[in-house]
Amino acid sequence: MAKLLREPVVSPDLLSRRFFRRVFGWFVSFAILLTLVLIGETLRQERDSLQSEFAIYERTFEKALAAALWAMDRDTLRSIVVGIVEIPDIERVQVFDPEGDEELLRVGKPPRSNGEGVGWVAHRFAIVHDEGFGREVVAQVEFHSSFARVVQRTQRQIALIVFLALLKTAALWWIFMVVGRQLIGRPLTEIADSIGSANSVERLRLSAETEKAIAGTELSVFRRAYDKLADHVHRAQADLVHANEELEERVRARTLALERANRQLDQLAHTDPLTGLANRRHFLVAAGEALARARRGQRPLALIVCDLDEFKQVNDLHGHAGGDRAILHVADCLRQSVREGDVAARLGGDEFAVLLPDTDLEQADTVASRLLVMVRDSTFALESEARHGVTLSIGVAALEPGDTRFDQVVQRADRRLYAAKRAGRDQVVSHDERSNPTVR
Ligand code: GH3
Ligand code: MG
Repeated sequence: MAKLLREPVVSPDLLSRRFFRRVFGWFVSFAILLTLVLIGETLRQERDSLQSEFAIYERTFEKALAAALWAMDRDTLRSIVVGIVEIPDIERVQVFDPEGDEELLRVGKPPRSNGEGVGWVAHRFAIVHDEGFGREVVAQVEFHSSFARVVQRTQRQIALIVFLALLKTAALWWIFMVVGRQLIGRPLTEIADSIGSANSVERLRLSAETEKAIAGTELSVFRRAYDKLADHVHRAQADLVHANEELEERVRARTLALERANRQLDQLAHTDPLTGLANRRHFLVAAGEALARARRGQRPLALIVCDLDEFKQVNDLHGHAGGDRAILHVADCLRQSVREGDVAARLGGDEFAVLLPDTDLEQADTVASRLLVMVRDSTFALESEARHGVTLSIGVAALEPGDTRFDQVVQRADRRLYAAKRAGRDQVVSHDERSNPTVR
């Protein structure tokens, strides 16, 4: 956006210049017209005044002319006329017969080729002789002066008019340019710069001089509107940032809750709800992994399975809640018997198992025996606060070279567990029935 604003189609400076050139074009046209009218009027006035002067000359020379004409003294007449033409403003004098048809004498500049006897200023008058017996027209006389002469007489005035007109025009041009630049050109450039240099839509920053120049004009209205827009954009941006933060916070909280729920779900999926030990599913997964590790590393792996003896009776005697307490008690004993890295699980009902990585059959047998004794020698509290004891039957098996699946180990352990049951319960069996079960 800033780039867009930085490249206006017409730069503000050119805009003000173009505006004033146009205004000025009109002004100059009018000024020329008015100056021409003024010059025309000056020339006309000058012609009138020359004509008045001719009338004065008429009165000055009419007597002498009348006397010479009456006496028919041609030489005198010529010298008078020559004398008149000496006057700078009278460029030609013509003397005609009384009817004015025939030219008797002409002194001075010749008439123009296109018009007989016509000067730009002409004054014709009759020469009258009056000797007391009556007035008689003896001739007609014409004084002439050219346009060039009238112009010559007014040249200072015309020069002054033209000079003043040029001066006015120049002064006006200068004033226009200075004022225009101050009031329009510079403020527009500064506004465009302020908009263009900002990284986002921000309030306009103008110099005090420009502020003063645009005060109360359309530019200040534009400036207020732009500032309002900038404020609006800022508020919208702030709202957006706030909304984003809120959204992020909610997403964060949701993610945490989801993670917690996932962990809980994971836990639930892996854990037996009553005892908190691993459930059968998790146990089998862990066992599968442990088997793979053991086979890879050629490490021993052992399994203990145990089942509460005559558990139905506990349920029958102390109710389901009493039975649950017995299961919890055994779970506690299991936790205390196993090492870090062993996996204790409740496989279901009153049946438990322990997976013992890096443990051979003998070591597992020792762990099982310890567990057997711990359960046998301990009691748990019933709801009635009376204490009760239970015993376990335990089968122990270890991974054997021919085993390919964990099932095979489980079956072996189960078989020994049932052997323990058959042999009278409360004992560990870690070998198949061919050999004698270990009774402790
Ligand atoms: P044995 O010595 O042959 O194992 O005899 P037993 O009575 O323990 O027989 P068995 O192991 O087959 O009995 C399991 C009983 O455990 C059956 C069931 O009523 C009870 N049981 C299974 N799960 C639960 C449980 O979560 N809580 C309680 N209180 N009892 C359970
Ligand atoms: Mg049982």
